[in-house]
Amino acid sequence: MNKKRKCQACKAIKDADLMHKITKEAKTNKLFLNPDSKILGRSAYVCKNPECIKILLKKKLLKGALKVQDTTEIEDILRTV
Ligand SMILES: [Zn+2]
Repeated sequence: MNKKRKCQACKAIKDADLMHKITKEAKTNKLFLNPDSKILGRSAYVCKNPECIKILLKKKLLKGALKVQDTTEIEDILRTV
């Protein structure tokens, strides 16, 4: 049984393995792509779908979801996945 998670962009609920997991590391408050859940912290999910990633970046949804100010680094990473 796969875990279900909600996409921050389209709000659909899907299997977590169909989504990118983005985690704010508790120790450093830095954002990472976290596919194998090795990093501990608050997480947000987005579909592995260019449209959802586009919405996530355009609307700066990670700032609200993960309570962070600076999301430029993770945005650069998400543009390349
Ligand atoms: Zn989505």
